[in-house]
Amino acid sequence: MTNNQNLFEKSRIHIPGGVNSPVRAFGSVGGSPLFFKKGKGAHVWDEDGKCYVDYVGSWGPMILGHAHPEVIRAVCETAELGLSFGAPTRLELEMADLLCELLPSMDQVRLVSSGTEATMSAIRLARGYTGRSAIVKFEGCYHGHADSLLVKAGSGALTFGNPSSAGVPPETAQHTLVLDYNDAGKLEETFDKLGEKIAAVIIEPVAGNMNLVAPKQAFLETLRNCCTKYGSVLIFDEVMTGFRVGLASAQGLYGIRPDLTTLGKVIGGGMPVGAFGGKKEIMQSLAPLGPVYQAGTLSGNPVAMAAGLATLKLLQAPGFFEKLSEKTRILTEGLASIAKDAGIAFSAQSVGGMFGLYFRETPPESYAEVMQCDKEAFNRFFHFMLDEGIYFAPSAFEAGFVSIAHEEAEMEKTLSAARKYFSKA
Ligand SMILES: *Cc1c(COP(=O)(O)O)cnc(C)c1O
Repeated sequence: MTNNQNLFEKSRIHIPGGVNSPVRAFGSVGGSPLFFKKGKGAHVWDEDGKCYVDYVGSWGPMILGHAHPEVIRAVCETAELGLSFGAPTRLELEMADLLCELLPSMDQVRLVSSGTEATMSAIRLARGYTGRSAIVKFEGCYHGHADSLLVKAGSGALTFGNPSSAGVPPETAQHTLVLDYNDAGKLEETFDKLGEKIAAVIIEPVAGNMNLVAPKQAFLETLRNCCTKYGSVLIFDEVMTGFRVGLASAQGLYGIRPDLTTLGKVIGGGMPVGAFGGKKEIMQSLAPLGPVYQAGTLSGNPVAMAAGLATLKLLQAPGFFEKLSEKTRILTEGLASIAKDAGIAFSAQSVGGMFGLYFRETPPESYAEVMQCDKEAFNRFFHFMLDEGIYFAPSAFEAGFVSIAHEEAEMEKTLSAARKYFSKA
């Protein structure tokens, strides 16, 4: 038994399924999960001492690569001064100012400790502000694990959703409408029928939790127009895309101004952080100013702020996102071209520093198309690459991430392993 396997066996005694977040268990790809003991730059090392090129990056936050010296220094210096006060600190002010400066749609922002908290709070705020109950989400988008968002499409057109997890009361799910991503027609139809009841629409402006699905520009524009017309709050869930697809995030890339934005992942630089913010008029409904309650003992934690601020400082360097996007493009174009030469049904695409790999001819545009990908082919590819020291997300339905620390050597190692695989596949 390897050290990884041994640790997994032991973990299953006191941790349900041996993991603290389900995708880590390798349930989708099969086999035993890796336990990591360290990371540096583009690489991670498991408990058996094997080194991997990392394309997960803690599911997005590690945009500078692992253990960046400036981030680690900021964390250590801040930790020396005390870990938590449950009172305002200067670092929260710095973070709030910076987020509002980088995202012009945000007049005000509140800091929390995870992406889930951010989306859950944004939904409550939108409902409190509008006095409405219904929310709209899109199939395949993930917004954390709050009850009202763990909902899948109901049967038939324009019906409210069903819980996608046990433990979510149907009454909760009944306030959530689930529509198809990129389907502007259905969206308009829904608003024409129910617009006055809709408190908010929440969307991943680039979907990254059903593999990667890029938005159609016209779809995002329709979304903005419908929300404006009916006074519904448009929430861009940029927990993944925020400071990952570009310095102005997805809202800047596509030129759409949401009413509220949720953030997480990159803004914590690897520490637990979330944020939600937007129009002042809406944000002022929050306690202590307004009637919508929201709070957190560790919200705006100083050590987490320090890691996030150090990360956000470095990714503002001139040319950072051009370089990151170029690296990501080299990876996806390289993989697609190798597969094409080998005659394999495979495609790939990237948006900024995130990417999707698909075992089908063309990148999918909806959840239904994502589901048409050959999952078994992905799983074989995943395990081959893992053996070769390349760590892709352990599921065919997750986006991948490149960091600024990924250099030509790592790309070449990845492409050469893929060449070996596709020539035999
Ligand atoms: C990761 C993610 C979340 C949840 O964030 P957590 O920090 O895991 O709670 C919410 N929305 C999107 C788009 C995400 O990618």
